[in-house]
Amino acid sequence: MQSLNKVREFMRRDRVFDFLVPEPLPVVDVSHDVLLYVESLSVSFDGFKALNNLNLYIGDGELRCLIGANGAGKTTLMDVITGKTRPDTGMVYLGQRHNLLDKTEAEIATLGVGRKFQKPTVFQQHTVFENLELSLRMSKAILASIFYRMNSEQYDRIAEVLKIIGLTEHSHQLAGALSHGQKQWLEIGMLLVSDPRLLLVDEPVAGMTPQETEHTAELLTSLAGERTVVVVEHDMAFVRSIAKKVTVLHQGSVLAEGSMDDIQNNPDVIDVYLGESQ
Ligand code: ATP
Repeated sequence: MQSLNKVREFMRRDRVFDFLVPEPLPVVDVSHDVLLYVESLSVSFDGFKALNNLNLYIGDGELRCLIGANGAGKTTLMDVITGKTRPDTGMVYLGQRHNLLDKTEAEIATLGVGRKFQKPTVFQQHTVFENLELSLRMSKAILASIFYRMNSEQYDRIAEVLKIIGLTEHSHQLAGALSHGQKQWLEIGMLLVSDPRLLLVDEPVAGMTPQETEHTAELLTSLAGERTVVVVEHDMAFVRSIAKKVTVLHQGSVLAEGSMDDIQNNPDVIDVYLGESQ
């Protein structure tokens, strides 16, 4: 009887196992108000320097736009920050303590670095809600995922994210039936459920309607402050609408940094980048 009770206790539907309780995010020391430190970073591909002694500091809670011509090194920089590419030299720290260069992609994600690629990759055959639920599961260990049952806190988190991305009314709609813009917001939401500290967002408004672009500007602006957002984008009107500080990359290095007005009046930037895109 005693053992039967033990089994019953184990099988209780409302039981929350310790390994299912979300791990708190590791502490990141931002006492100097800088979340991301990139110093003297160089990456070569067959002798070609995709990043060349790059230095970049992103403040905690900042919304930073990263611009530059094709091949300037923007994607390579994102790849290094997220652990996909190993640099030849340099350092990358999250806060003052976490050296990202000695961590795997999974460890970097666990530290709270989320990346959104240009093309949305949502689960088309699942509803918006299920997509968010699935990404919550995937942020856990496989064993935890097998036994996974959402608790009310996690429901609340998904409801909160649905509100932030403006898809509450679409939560039961199949993701495949969403517009291109809505899919992009859903994918941002899929990152937000695990509460990232740093969001790297690659060309979020490519292919969007003007209304979707405007909503994306509001969304990204609202995310900054509580979290840090780095946006890579070629659409200059969009960059102007969200940017406080812009970094221009050129041939793997920082060419200029400042407000959008500073950047648009910088002769070097006009020469190598804006001249062709304005
Ligand atoms: P875009 O705006 O077109 O995405 P980008 O600024 O993101 O450009 P990167 O993709 O970082 O630029 O590329 C920087 C340079 O490094 C380019 O010349 C590119 O061809 C080269 N490169 C990037 N990845 C590799 C690779 N795996 N092997 C060889 N060369 C590469």
